[in-house]
Amino acid sequence: MDADFFRKLPKVELHAHINGSISVSTMSQLVAGMSTSYNPDSLKFKKGETGTLKEVFKLFRQIHDVINNEKAVYKVTYDVIHEFAEENVKYIELRTTPREEPSTGMTTISYVETVLRAIDDCAKENLDIIVKLLLAVDRRQSLQVAMDTVQLAVKYREKSNGVIVGIDLSGDPKVGNADIFIPAFKEAQKHGLKLALHLAEVPAPEETITLLREIIPDRIGHGTCLQPDAGGTKDIVEFVESHRIPLELCLSSNIINMTVPGYDNHHFKFWYDLEHPCIICTDDKGVFSTSITEEYSIAADTFQLSSDQVWQLSYNSIDSIFSDETTKQLLREKWKTLKENLLLKS
Ligand code: 5GP
Repeated sequence: MDADFFRKLPKVELHAHINGSISVSTMSQLVAGMSTSYNPDSLKFKKGETGTLKEVFKLFRQIHDVINNEKAVYKVTYDVIHEFAEENVKYIELRTTPREEPSTGMTTISYVETVLRAIDDCAKENLDIIVKLLLAVDRRQSLQVAMDTVQLAVKYREKSNGVIVGIDLSGDPKVGNADIFIPAFKEAQKHGLKLALHLAEVPAPEETITLLREIIPDRIGHGTCLQPDAGGTKDIVEFVESHRIPLELCLSSNIINMTVPGYDNHHFKFWYDLEHPCIICTDDKGVFSTSITEEYSIAADTFQLSSDQVWQLSYNSIDSIFSDETTKQLLREKWKTLKENLLLKS
């Protein structure tokens, strides 16, 4: 399998934060038009660099300083969709935290409307990619803000004709306790929104088991420390396994932010060997200088996956998307059409 195989492989991306996915090219264009001292190269980790979670989240604050107005939000969203489409991602669920910026007049409402406008404009161009959106709750926020985000998601799901499909929980895992958001997540579920929660990025067994039991999320982001040898518990593993809650796994992200010591130690292996639903994702392709193509290639190299296994990994991701059976069937047909060509050539 060469680089071409991984690029041509049809892919699903289910864990991509919009502002963390910004490319150097987009960032350079945005910075060029501003009176800011930020150097685009300093707003990401270069290949081989690592950083603490504190450093990673400082970067996000700096990126937000640049993407502080609707025009920039539009450009990032529009460019990110095109970049994933170029990598043969056929279905993507982007996620983003509605943000207000009083200095530019941007509100959480105009933020969401801008992201949806960019998604809609891409759809009008007939790119070969289906784009859905999750609105994110940041762990730093209050329950009231989380409730407002759920209301926004409900309102704009209707207005966007179903582009918004769910709610994400993210933000610095070392900040706060996610239990406080349980009423907001229940409200989201009441309205039929799906939940993808960042859980156990760092050891937090009590928070993890409480959220799992109270909410039963539809997918887990990272799940780095679910297993006992990583600071989780047997009960947590049993719960996730018995409910077959899919895991969004972002290999390079975890290595760079040092929540996993090396690719060989990544929990992908633990869950993949259990035949648990595992989805390869990028997290923040811009910040972590990676791509979905590279992440598949790294997974194959590290865990000695054959081309058939790689294809199956990508194909099985379709089962975990937050869209209806018709969309899943459409994607499965697309994968089957592309399969023969891809595997015979490899
Ligand atoms: P945005 O929501 O602004 O589009 O994307 C950036 C935000 O996504 C960050 O401020 C942070 O809240 C969240 N995020 C990005 N990467 C990670 C990650 O690896 N872990 C967690 N917990 N949150 C992340």
